[in-house]
Amino acid sequence: MIRLHLDKSKNEALSILCLGAHSDDIEIGCGGTILRLIEQYPACKFHWVVFSAIGVRKTEAQRGAESFAGSRLERLLLKDFRDGFMPYVGSDVKAVFEELKQTVSPDLILTHNRRDGHQDHRLLSEMTWNTFRNHFILEYEIPKYDGDLGQPSVFMPLEPEVCQTKVRHLLDAFESQRNKSWFEESTFQSLMRLRGMECNSPSGFAEAFYCRKLVL
Ligand SMILES: [Zn+2]
Repeated sequence: MIRLHLDKSKNEALSILCLGAHSDDIEIGCGGTILRLIEQYPACKFHWVVFSAIGVRKTEAQRGAESFAGSRLERLLLKDFRDGFMPYVGSDVKAVFEELKQTVSPDLILTHNRRDGHQDHRLLSEMTWNTFRNHFILEYEIPKYDGDLGQPSVFMPLEPEVCQTKVRHLLDAFESQRNKSWFEESTFQSLMRLRGMECNSPSGFAEAFYCRKLVL
Protein backbone atom coordinates (compact mmCIF):
# COMPACT_ATOMS: atom_id res chain seq x y z
CA MET A 1 0.00 0.00 0.00
CA ILE A 2 1.34 3.46 -0.89
CA ARG A 3 2.14 5.58 2.16
CA LEU A 4 1.05 9.17 2.62
CA HIS A 5 3.39 11.71 4.17
CA LEU A 6 2.62 15.03 5.75
CA ASP A 7 3.34 17.91 3.42
CA LYS A 8 6.34 19.27 5.33
CA SER A 9 10.05 18.88 4.80
CA LYS A 10 12.31 17.67 7.58
CA ASN A 11 13.36 21.20 8.52
CA GLU A 12 9.97 22.88 8.33
CA ALA A 13 8.19 23.33 11.65
CA LEU A 14 5.23 20.99 11.61
CA SER A 15 2.67 22.38 14.05
CA ILE A 16 0.70 19.76 15.99
CA LEU A 17 -2.18 20.37 18.38
CA CYS A 18 -2.79 17.57 20.90
CA LEU A 19 -6.12 17.64 22.72
CA GLY A 20 -6.98 15.39 25.66
CA ALA A 21 -9.82 15.40 28.17
CA HIS A 22 -7.82 13.80 31.00
CA SER A 23 -4.19 13.79 31.92
CA ASP A 24 -3.16 10.52 30.25
CA ASP A 25 -5.46 10.46 27.20
CA ILE A 26 -3.08 11.98 24.64
CA GLU A 27 -0.23 9.72 25.71
CA ILE A 28 -2.34 6.52 25.65
CA GLY A 29 -4.05 7.39 22.37
CA CYS A 30 -1.13 8.67 20.32
CA GLY A 31 2.06 8.68 22.40
CA GLY A 32 3.84 6.41 19.93
CA THR A 33 2.79 8.57 17.00
CA ILE A 34 4.12 11.66 18.77
CA LEU A 35 7.50 9.97 19.31
CA ARG A 36 7.49 8.84 15.68
CA LEU A 37 6.61 12.32 14.34
CA ILE A 38 9.48 13.84 16.32
CA GLU A 39 11.85 11.35 14.65
CA GLN A 40 10.48 12.14 11.21
CA TYR A 41 10.03 15.91 11.64
CA PRO A 42 12.65 17.07 14.18
CA ALA A 43 11.57 20.71 13.78
CA CYS A 44 7.96 19.98 14.81
CA LYS A 45 6.23 21.93 17.58
CA PHE A 46 3.47 20.75 19.91
CA HIS A 47 0.60 22.69 21.41
CA TRP A 48 -0.71 20.44 24.17
CA VAL A 49 -4.03 20.90 25.98
CA VAL A 50 -5.43 18.78 28.81
CA PHE A 51 -8.89 19.83 29.96
CA SER A 52 -9.08 18.00 33.28
CA ALA A 53 -5.74 18.17 35.09
CA ILE A 54 -6.28 18.71 38.81
CA GLY A 55 -4.04 18.04 41.81
CA VAL A 56 -1.68 15.13 41.31
CA ARG A 57 -3.11 14.62 37.84
CA LYS A 58 -1.94 18.11 36.91
CA THR A 59 1.61 17.22 37.90
CA GLU A 60 1.31 13.99 35.94
CA ALA A 61 -0.10 15.76 32.87
CA GLN A 62 2.91 18.06 32.85
CA ARG A 63 5.28 15.12 33.29
CA GLY A 64 3.55 13.22 30.48
CA ALA A 65 3.68 16.10 28.01
CA GLU A 66 7.34 16.75 28.79
CA SER A 67 8.22 13.04 28.52
CA PHE A 68 6.70 12.70 25.07
CA ALA A 69 7.16 16.12 23.44
CA GLY A 70 10.29 17.22 25.29
CA SER A 71 11.87 20.37 23.87
CA ARG A 72 9.26 20.46 21.07
CA LEU A 73 6.59 21.45 23.59
CA GLU A 74 5.70 24.96 22.42
CA ARG A 75 2.73 25.41 24.72
CA LEU A 76 1.22 23.39 27.55
CA LEU A 77 -2.29 24.38 28.66
CA LEU A 78 -3.70 22.53 31.68
CA LYS A 79 -7.33 23.26 32.58
CA ASP A 80 -9.26 22.19 35.66
CA PHE A 81 -12.59 20.91 34.38
CA ARG A 82 -14.12 18.19 36.55
CA ASP A 83 -13.67 14.66 35.20
CA GLY A 84 -16.94 13.37 33.72
CA PHE A 85 -18.81 16.69 33.83
CA MET A 86 -17.60 18.45 30.68
CA PRO A 87 -20.80 18.09 28.63
CA TYR A 88 -22.64 19.93 31.42
CA VAL A 89 -20.34 22.95 31.26
CA GLY A 90 -20.05 22.88 27.50
CA SER A 91 -20.01 26.64 27.02
CA ASP A 92 -16.91 26.94 29.24
CA VAL A 93 -15.19 24.17 27.29
CA LYS A 94 -16.15 25.86 24.03
CA ALA A 95 -14.58 29.10 25.25
CA VAL A 96 -11.25 27.29 25.59
CA PHE A 97 -11.55 26.11 21.99
CA GLU A 98 -12.37 29.61 20.76
CA GLU A 99 -9.28 30.96 22.52
CA LEU A 100 -7.17 28.18 20.99
CA LYS A 101 -8.44 29.03 17.53
CA GLN A 102 -7.12 32.56 17.94
CA THR A 103 -3.64 31.43 18.91
CA VAL A 104 -2.83 28.35 16.83
CA SER A 105 -3.50 27.07 13.33
CA PRO A 106 -2.03 23.58 13.43
CA ASP A 107 -1.02 21.38 10.50
CA LEU A 108 -2.29 18.33 12.37
CA ILE A 109 -4.74 17.93 15.25
CA LEU A 110 -4.80 14.80 17.39
CA THR A 111 -8.05 14.51 19.33
CA HIS A 112 -10.60 12.07 20.73
CA ASN A 113 -12.81 9.79 18.66
CA ARG A 114 -16.33 11.01 17.94
CA ARG A 115 -17.76 7.60 18.94
CA ASP A 116 -15.78 7.25 22.17
CA GLY A 117 -17.77 5.83 25.10
CA HIS A 118 -16.70 8.58 27.52
CA GLN A 119 -18.83 11.72 27.49
CA ASP A 120 -15.88 14.08 28.02
CA HIS A 121 -14.01 12.49 25.11
CA ARG A 122 -17.01 12.80 22.76
CA LEU A 123 -17.52 16.46 23.63
CA LEU A 124 -13.91 17.35 22.87
CA SER A 125 -14.08 15.48 19.57
CA GLU A 126 -17.23 17.32 18.55
CA MET A 127 -15.79 20.70 19.52
CA THR A 128 -12.54 19.98 17.67
CA TRP A 129 -14.49 19.61 14.43
CA ASN A 130 -16.76 22.56 15.20
CA THR A 131 -13.83 24.86 15.93
CA PHE A 132 -11.13 23.84 13.45
CA ARG A 133 -13.00 23.88 10.14
CA ASN A 134 -10.17 23.63 7.63
CA HIS A 135 -7.66 21.40 9.38
CA PHE A 136 -6.32 17.87 9.22
CA ILE A 137 -7.77 16.01 12.20
CA LEU A 138 -6.99 12.49 13.36
CA GLU A 139 -9.03 10.92 16.16
CA TYR A 140 -7.16 8.57 18.49
CA GLU A 141 -8.58 5.67 20.49
CA ILE A 142 -8.53 4.87 24.21
CA PRO A 143 -9.13 1.27 25.37
CA LYS A 144 -11.62 1.16 28.23
CA TYR A 145 -14.26 -0.77 30.23
CA ASP A 146 -17.00 0.41 27.86
CA GLY A 147 -15.55 -1.65 25.00
CA ASP A 148 -15.90 1.07 22.40
CA LEU A 149 -13.07 0.18 20.04
CA GLY A 150 -14.07 0.29 16.38
CA GLN A 151 -12.56 -0.01 12.94
CA PRO A 152 -9.97 2.75 12.47
CA SER A 153 -8.94 4.01 9.06
CA VAL A 154 -5.45 5.48 9.45
CA PHE A 155 -2.45 3.67 10.88
CA MET A 156 0.97 4.73 12.11
CA PRO A 157 3.38 1.76 12.09
CA LEU A 158 5.70 1.88 15.09
CA GLU A 159 9.03 0.21 15.80
CA PRO A 160 9.01 -2.02 18.90
CA GLU A 161 11.47 0.38 20.59
CA VAL A 162 9.02 3.25 20.16
CA CYS A 163 6.22 1.14 21.67
CA GLN A 164 8.46 0.27 24.63
CA THR A 165 9.37 3.94 25.16
CA LYS A 166 5.68 4.88 25.03
CA VAL A 167 4.75 2.31 27.66
CA ARG A 168 7.70 3.25 29.88
CA HIS A 169 6.75 6.95 29.76
CA LEU A 170 3.11 6.06 30.53
CA LEU A 171 3.97 3.97 33.57
CA ASP A 172 6.52 6.53 34.83
CA ALA A 173 4.46 9.67 34.27
CA PHE A 174 1.04 8.49 35.48
CA GLU A 175 1.84 6.78 38.74
CA SER A 176 -1.61 7.51 40.21
CA GLN A 177 -3.23 5.35 37.53
CA ARG A 178 -1.19 2.24 38.20
CA ASN A 179 -3.71 0.96 40.75
CA LYS A 180 -6.20 0.51 37.90
CA SER A 181 -6.10 -3.11 36.75
CA TRP A 182 -5.97 -2.19 33.08
CA PHE A 183 -3.25 0.46 33.31
CA GLU A 184 -0.38 -1.88 32.53
CA GLU A 185 2.02 -2.75 29.77
CA SER A 186 0.03 -5.67 28.32
CA THR A 187 -3.05 -3.49 27.64
CA PHE A 188 -1.08 -0.90 25.69
CA GLN A 189 1.12 -3.38 23.85
CA SER A 190 -1.85 -5.60 22.92
CA LEU A 191 -3.75 -2.81 21.22
CA MET A 192 -0.66 -1.67 19.31
CA ARG A 193 -0.02 -5.29 18.25
CA LEU A 194 -3.60 -5.68 16.94
CA ARG A 195 -3.45 -2.40 15.03
CA GLY A 196 -0.04 -3.44 13.66
CA MET A 197 -1.58 -6.62 12.30
CA GLU A 198 -4.41 -4.69 10.68
CA CYS A 199 -2.06 -2.43 8.72
CA ASN A 200 0.58 -5.05 7.95
CA SER A 201 3.17 -3.08 9.93
CA PRO A 202 6.69 -4.40 9.27
CA SER A 203 7.37 -4.41 13.02
CA GLY A 204 3.94 -5.84 13.88
CA PHE A 205 2.97 -2.74 15.89
CA ALA A 206 1.03 0.44 15.16
CA GLU A 207 -1.30 3.07 16.56
CA ALA A 208 -4.58 3.71 14.78
CA PHE A 209 -6.82 6.70 14.12
CA TYR A 210 -10.15 7.64 12.64
CA CYS A 211 -9.95 10.11 9.76
CA ARG A 212 -13.20 11.68 8.55
CA LYS A 213 -11.81 14.09 5.98
CA LEU A 214 -8.61 14.09 3.96
CA VAL A 215 -7.59 16.32 1.04
CA LEU A 216 -5.14 14.85 -1.49
ZN1 LIG B 1 -9.98 10.33 29.29
